Amino acid sequence: MSKGITPIEKNELYQVTFQDLTHDGAGVAKVEGFPIFVAGALPGEKGTIKIVKVKKGYAFGRLMELETRSDDRVEPACPIYKHCGGCQLQHMSYEGQLEAKHKQVVEVLARIGQIQDVPVHPVMGMDEPWRYRNKAQVPVGEQEGGLVAGFYQQRSHDIIDMEECLIQEQINDDLVQAAKRICDTHGVRAYNEERHSGNLRHIMVRYGQVTGEAMVVLVTKEDKLPNQDQIVDEIRKISPSIKSIVQNVNSKKTNVIMGDHTKVLWGEEYIYDYIGDIKFAISARSFYQVNPKQTKVLYDQALKYAELNGSETVIDAYCGIGTISLFLAQKAKHVYGVEIVPEAISDAKRNAKINSMQNVEFAVGEAEKVIPWWYAQGVRADVLVVDPPRKGCDEALLQTIIKMKPKKVVYVSCNPATLARDLRVLEDGGYKTTEVQPVDMFPHTTHVECVALLKLKGHE
Ligand code: SAH
Repeated sequence: MSKGITPIEKNELYQVTFQDLTHDGAGVAKVEGFPIFVAGALPGEKGTIKIVKVKKGYAFGRLMELETRSDDRVEPACPIYKHCGGCQLQHMSYEGQLEAKHKQVVEVLARIGQIQDVPVHPVMGMDEPWRYRNKAQVPVGEQEGGLVAGFYQQRSHDIIDMEECLIQEQINDDLVQAAKRICDTHGVRAYNEERHSGNLRHIMVRYGQVTGEAMVVLVTKEDKLPNQDQIVDEIRKISPSIKSIVQNVNSKKTNVIMGDHTKVLWGEEYIYDYIGDIKFAISARSFYQVNPKQTKVLYDQALKYAELNGSETVIDAYCGIGTISLFLAQKAKHVYGVEIVPEAISDAKRNAKINSMQNVEFAVGEAEKVIPWWYAQGVRADVLVVDPPRKGCDEALLQTIIKMKPKKVVYVSCNPATLARDLRVLEDGGYKTTEVQPVDMFPHTTHVECVALLKLKGHE
């Protein structure tokens, strides 16, 4: 492609072959080297596309006709797949998805981190990659026939009713729809975003896959719920699994789902669940992994990489509710966890207590400030685990790791791009990445988690 000239035009048709997938699941084709992104197309496929938008170095197209199908193409199992947007890869076989995620990790590590010579193991997927989510968080709207609970139609604020979400626990779908009908019968009106009027904003259901305990949360604009007693009584009777019915009041004009005020309408404040042998208390607002089966796979891998024998001091940075910290504390001498959200640390402390674990302590704060402070106090970790949000680790934290020199760093990541960037910094600071294990926590979406093991050079 010659510089400055765009070889394609808007609204024109082109016949192309797709070569790749973007990290958000679109097919990539090239016309004279100029990349075009087309949702719904798979690598290896040939088809006719229409250009819908041209940007400076790339364009977006729409698939008009598919001429050669990929062997990985399957009929999406979910009837609302095209409208919902929650999943991006249901048109690809599960094996194909796992291979595409593996390829993405290998390429990103090489391109962004210049990390080429590291074994990236095949992605650990689920045997049954459906109905894995333990939490449903469904917006409520109104149509002529009454309340609807479902999803925002793509690029709009209209809510489409959803009887079933195939990546959601069956009971969550059932409870959302039943709670919606009960609220409707008792005259609860849906919240209207534009007018900031009405009441019921979201219905949320959380389910402990091991304990079978469920929690129903009604997120409302008003403190008052009309006919509350009847509503609660009827919801309670839907299923013996329900252990908790909670109202969360969010009176603000915001698209943040939960408000600050939570009250228990019936039953317990917490439900419980297990990941491996560790028990977790889950409140309406607690963070808890949405796919605990694969979380166990991921954290087992982190634990395996940590290779603990009971004598080690371990730091778990970005520890959330302490899931990894408690996993590690089963095998380490002492674990320090640090996390920025105070409520998550309260949950972490509660979780340590209900599991009778005394060799773990938690601090609230920024990992990049607290860990340097610990270092200044003489804390030295043998193993340091990080599980940062998508933006990766703060540079100050990486520099402290390089100074503290733990023999092993176990990096758990939900974003291969920032993982690659941070691995490069650690490699330049004296570490060697020895292996990377991707894990599929969110089948049918483009997300991929990885756990990487780094060893201090001279200790490999
Ligand atoms: N390991 C945790 C989840 C980690 S998700 C678990 O299994 O529960 C990333 C976490 O990092 C979130 O809980 C987020 O609140 C926290 N976080 C974000 N920025 C942070 C920072 N600068 N310092 C410490 N924690 C941070």
